[in-house]
Amino acid sequence: MGAGQMGNGIAHVMALAGYEVTLNDISQDALDAAIARIEKNMGRQAGSGKISEDEMKAAMGRISTTLEITDIGPSDLIIEAATENESVKQKIFDALAPSLGEQTILTSNTSSISITRLASRTDRPERFMGFHFMNPVPVMQLVELIRGIATDEDTYLACKGVVEKLGKTPASAEDFPAFIVNRILVPMINEAVYTLYEGVGGVQSIDQAMKLGANHPMGPLELADFIGLDTCLAIMNVLHDGLADTKYRPCPLLTKYVEAGWLGRKTKRGFYDYRGETPVPTR
Ligand code: NAD
Repeated sequence: MGAGQMGNGIAHVMALAGYEVTLNDISQDALDAAIARIEKNMGRQAGSGKISEDEMKAAMGRISTTLEITDIGPSDLIIEAATENESVKQKIFDALAPSLGEQTILTSNTSSISITRLASRTDRPERFMGFHFMNPVPVMQLVELIRGIATDEDTYLACKGVVEKLGKTPASAEDFPAFIVNRILVPMINEAVYTLYEGVGGVQSIDQAMKLGANHPMGPLELADFIGLDTCLAIMNVLHDGLADTKYRPCPLLTKYVEAGWLGRKTKRGFYDYRGETPVPTR
């Protein structure tokens, strides 16, 4: 559910692994864009010999799309990957409830929202868990599996089996705000935005310093644009609210970019401007 950056990547890897996938979104444009994106990314994999043309054709044939939420209710596994907003996610789980199959496992790809709280609003907290892919999904090896307080062992093992079938590596995390990867990664990005805000360095010098000085493959601001600044801000807010520690306060400059609608690559502007041939720093 949710055919954005993550949803299209999840559909891509699931279909290649042999699963029948139904992609749902509230926007037909998002569904069309997702199919086009999957085709492009799989085409690239086929071009470089990672998969065959036949595998690509078969995988594309396993993906269908729908605007009707009730169409996906009876699936064996539902992965919710809609906008990082708790009320959006809760409305989705409420709307799904009447059409769910008895054995359907419900999961959320949320980067930070409490799995226990999302699960508690459903009729099946024991068959609910966090299924957290990394971006870009076809490339990244890790999937965090997060058990809510009520998640049962069969659900965990079923999800672990799916991750292994995808050829990825599961990491188990306890259900605390932002889990493992984002608990560490996003405060680092927020600190990079403070470093920019306080004028310690410009966009390029901060990114270059972390690439060359800490051996990171991408600078933190470049990475923030890649993740989406709205998602980064939402994660900082969840950490701030959930752990009640001022060290997680979101940088006002991050808030300003989000308020401007400069959300990073997906809106073509964030800490860099992507509208031309090469990205240009916006500060
Ligand atoms: P995105 O903005 O690219 O896509 C979100 C999609 O959800 C949009 O297409 C939107 O139309 C759709 N949507 C909104 N409300 C909906 C509804 N009621 N029903 C169905 N679809 C709906 O966001 P994204 O980056 O793909 O993030 C999605 C989720 O994945 C978030 O929970 C985010 O925290 C998580 N996540 C993101 C990243 C990342 O790097 N971007 C990494 C891991 C996890």
